[in-house]
Amino acid sequence: MFSFKRPKIKEKTSRPEKKDFDGWLSCHGCKELIYQSELEKNLHCCPKCKAHFRLGVKARIQLLADSGSFTELFMDCKPDDPLQFVDTEPYAQRLKTAQKKTGRDEAVVVGTCCLHGRPIALGVLDFSFMGGSMGSVVGERLTSLIELATEKELPLVIVSASGGARMQESIFSLMQMAKTAGALSRLDEAALPYISVLTHPTTGGVTASFATLGDLILAEPDALIGFAGPRVVEQTTREKLPPKAQKSEFLLEKGMIDCIVNRDELKDKLSLFLGFLMPEFPAKERSQKQKLKQLIEHGQKKGPDSDRRS
Ligand SMILES: [Zn+2]
Repeated sequence: MFSFKRPKIKEKTSRPEKKDFDGWLSCHGCKELIYQSELEKNLHCCPKCKAHFRLGVKARIQLLADSGSFTELFMDCKPDDPLQFVDTEPYAQRLKTAQKKTGRDEAVVVGTCCLHGRPIALGVLDFSFMGGSMGSVVGERLTSLIELATEKELPLVIVSASGGARMQESIFSLMQMAKTAGALSRLDEAALPYISVLTHPTTGGVTASFATLGDLILAEPDALIGFAGPRVVEQTTREKLPPKAQKSEFLLEKGMIDCIVNRDELKDKLSLFLGFLMPEFPAKERSQKQKLKQLIEHGQKKGPDSDRRS
């Protein structure tokens, strides 16, 4: 007698690493079976068709930052429930659930790091935390990061993955669109480069603010990028959208984004573009590294202005 253990096969998902699952996945691109660990080794891209699965924040930072160079900043800024909002469950409860699920206190991680030796300011949105939605903390941390980049003359890279503004904070969320855009205009006045990287999916108020204000806007292949989702657009306009509308390839064709970059080339391409946009590096390498040291000390000392939130 023997027992037959059914192989674990998981259907189509573009979710990032799940620690409790170590079986087979069915690729959402080519439908082939891929072993989970093989996917992880391949930067969460299908080894057969190169379909890009969602990448978690930690893996994204590992991908872009030089080993051991990332310092997270502005962690003192914590989420709140200013409207005491309740839908099917209280917002405070939703926050707790998301924090427990992700091990993170909000939907964004910001900090400084080196990218091929060049100091940069880096922000990464976390889609697994309430759909990467932008509430007042996400807006405040990003604004603080942009202001730090302006002050310390650092180039800025933000990797977006978001469902848009956070409904539960209503107007406070919407105000973050203007706040981040205002800070970016001051970064622009200082002639410092900002590269926005759009990943699957980037929609709503995030697309309508900082994510599409980059000097260069890059996207990962086959990423959904838009304001409203395709179903909402079809229902509102009562027209069928062209196939693959709102995907990065379509948007590149229409001139909405500048470049599609495969994940395995992202770091090299960012380094190349930053080299074009800030050509004085590496002539000032030493002073830039000095700057990074100073700003890490600065970030550790300085908390965000709590009264500026909202
Ligand atoms: Zn595939």
